[in-house]
Parts: sequence; C-alpha cells; structure tokens
Amino acid sequence: MEETLVILKPSAIGRGIAGEIITRFERKGLIIAGMKMIQLNDALLDEHYAHLVDRPFFPRIKASMMSTPVVVMCVRGKDAVQVVRNMTGVTNGRNANPGTIRGDYSMSGQENIVHASDSVENGKIELARFFKPEEIFDYTPSGINYLYASDEV
Ligand code: ADP
Repeated sequence: MEETLVILKPSAIGRGIAGEIITRFERKGLIIAGMKMIQLNDALLDEHYAHLVDRPFFPRIKASMMSTPVVVMCVRGKDAVQVVRNMTGVTNGRNANPGTIRGDYSMSGQENIVHASDSVENGKIELARFFKPEEIFDYTPSGINYLYASDEV
C-alpha cells in the first residue's frame, strides 16, 4: 500500500477542526499509520516549500505555518497519494469543489487547512522529513476485509 504525508495546518488547528479533518480520512477507509504534533521552523519550511522560496508571498506562508503547532500524519492506503489529493481539493479554497476538504472548510488560497503530498516520490521524501522510521506503524485494522477486496491489497 502507498503512504502519503498530510499536515493539518494552523488553519485547522487554530479553528479547532483538526478532529473533523482526521475523521474524514478515517471515514474514507484510509489507515492512520503515524501522527504527531510538531512546531514547524524556518529550516523545515525552507525545505518543505523549496519550490516556493522565490515567490513574494513565501515569508507570509512561513509565518502562517509557524503560527501554531501542526499535526503531521502518515496516511496509508491503496493509491493513497491520489486519493488524499482528491479529498483535499485544489490549492485555493474558493475554487475547490464542495465535498473536498478545502472546498468545505476554506475561503483562502493560503489558509487552506491541509497539506498533502503531490506524488508518490514526494510522499516518500516528505514522510522521511517529518517522521523517524519507528514513528510509522505497520498494523492491520480489524475491518480491513470490508475496506478492500482480497485482490486489491
Ligand atoms: P498545494 O498545497 O495545493 O500542493 P502549492 O504546493 O503550490 O499547493 O503551495 C503550497 C502552499 O502555499 C499552499 O497550500 C498555500 O497554503 C500556499 N500558497 C500557494 N500559492 C499561494 C498564493 N498564491 N498565495 C498565498 N498562498 C499560497
């Protein structure tokens, strides 16, 4: 099964909706393989958002991402990267489809509730950035036979 990194951003923590967002992943049938609260810092954000460092709004994103602790999650499932991106919706909450997390909870291009890895390769890199190997757990939920057919896992 695939794994992807989800970050519940300060826009989720500060609004007190982290539990609702986690519930969506659980309800979908994704497996929470790792989860912890951390405080992001300059070095981590420069690395994590390296593709945005030259954008004029980068200092603002960083300040926002450090404004509260965040929850980082390792989410596991078949095709988990694409499934979670589909659930997340497009970057700007105002354009995100209703039914997606950003579409249902965000009015902003910046304050958009969650980060989700955008490829399998980046998922691996991002999980290694935020988790030690022993913080990601390999277990089988008791309801696995009702999440997948036997030829799907
Ligand atoms: P995504 O999070 O959808 O993969 P990006 O990797 O392009 O999107 O951007 C990372 C984060 O930077 C976004 O989730 C958002 O919080 C912020 N961001 C991106 N573009 C803008 C923008 N034009 N104005 C403000 N914040 C932005």
